Amino acid sequence: MSFFDRFRNKSKEAPKVAVKAAKDVKQAVAKPIASAKPKTGAACAEKTPESIQAAQLKAADLGALLPGAPPNGKINLAIYWAAACGGCDVSLLDVNERILTIGDMANIVMWPIAADGKEHDIAEMKDGEITVSIISGAVRNSENEHMVKLLRKKSAIVVCYGTCACFGGSPALANLVPGGKDEILDYVYKKTPTTANFQADYHAGSPVIPQTEFGAPEGKLTLPVLYDTVKTLDQVIDVDYYIPGCPPLQESISHLLKAVADLLYNGVALPPKGTVVGIVTKTLCEQCPRRKEHRRITKIVEPHQIDVDPDLCLMDQGTLCLGPATVGGCNARCTRVGQPCRGCYGPTAAVQEQGASALTAIASMFPVLDDDATIEEEAIVDIMSTVKDPLGYFYAFTMGKSLIKRSVSEKGGK
Ligand code: SF4
Ligand code: SF4
Ligand code: SF4
Repeated sequence: MSFFDRFRNKSKEAPKVAVKAAKDVKQAVAKPIASAKPKTGAACAEKTPESIQAAQLKAADLGALLPGAPPNGKINLAIYWAAACGGCDVSLLDVNERILTIGDMANIVMWPIAADGKEHDIAEMKDGEITVSIISGAVRNSENEHMVKLLRKKSAIVVCYGTCACFGGSPALANLVPGGKDEILDYVYKKTPTTANFQADYHAGSPVIPQTEFGAPEGKLTLPVLYDTVKTLDQVIDVDYYIPGCPPLQESISHLLKAVADLLYNGVALPPKGTVVGIVTKTLCEQCPRRKEHRRITKIVEPHQIDVDPDLCLMDQGTLCLGPATVGGCNARCTRVGQPCRGCYGPTAAVQEQGASALTAIASMFPVLDDDATIEEEAIVDIMSTVKDPLGYFYAFTMGKSLIKRSVSEKGGK
């Protein structure tokens, strides 16, 4: 029997007690939720309790698989993806056999990638009947917005899961398209090589793009409305906990599972509202084992263009790394294998603009302020011009939270 079958069978066993468990959980977090001002992203780092900051919790640290349903009955759990790639959903399986812990303590009432469950099933539930909703992905269309608002209404706790939900992630790079959704749809459905050929073959002279409403003989068909601006989850609904990462590490997922299990089986209170799970107060550089020599750089290179020194800081080798502007928590999983950090855990508590902060760190590495300045401003412009997509590079994950809301065209586009 697969564990999904196990979920379903157990789900049939205890729907009523789940409601009671949900109430218990709501009471358990009611005080911190009411008393703590919501914080977003890295701004929460300074408020994160040490117990949660102590990253690197291993799945095995969760102990033996739980012995069965919690004493007060199983909770209801919803897992939903908005504008997401699915990686966050898959990452939940990174705790290996401990995933069965979820089946022991929860009825899965919605998980589009893995289990059946319809919007009307959720709509028919009582407000607060879902104990925990884990939501990944940004909000970029009307369906995303409707579902996250519905889940918020029906849930005692909402977990903002993954970088796209926390900071906008790669979907929020769409905010940089000056013409917004119309320009995106035009390009995607008319100008990419495959669609251009298709349109030329089948709709020559009158190319079609998906419509949000279509009158079919059987009735009106609808599609979600794409938005001009991609939003983070907490720009649309109130959020209780954040778990950054693209996708989050299993250590973060283990922290989440342990916190919920501790509450259900041992009565241990949940952390305060606004807690960011799985981060530390240090920057990624402080978790990175590479030796920093603070060399001056005179050219920018990609890792594949050099013979990467396995011990030296990548910036010292001329490779742009967002480690100085990124909050620690992942234990420097990219830089340890020779790849620069792209910043998926988001900025530190002291920083709002992760991209600008990274640029500042890079600027300090050009030999212009030294007594023996050896480079002119024009040369720096030339060097930085070798970065093909600066906004995409420095804001690959955090455009949704950036002060830069969108790009504009010189002709006066949006
Ligand atoms: S955070 Fe990363 S893994 Fe998760 S949905 Fe976004 S792109 Fe995918
Ligand atoms: S800049 Fe990057 S490679 Fe260098 S120490 Fe910081 S995280 Fe490590
Ligand atoms: S090293 Fe940077 S990009 Fe890689 S997982 Fe960590 S925070 Fe994300």
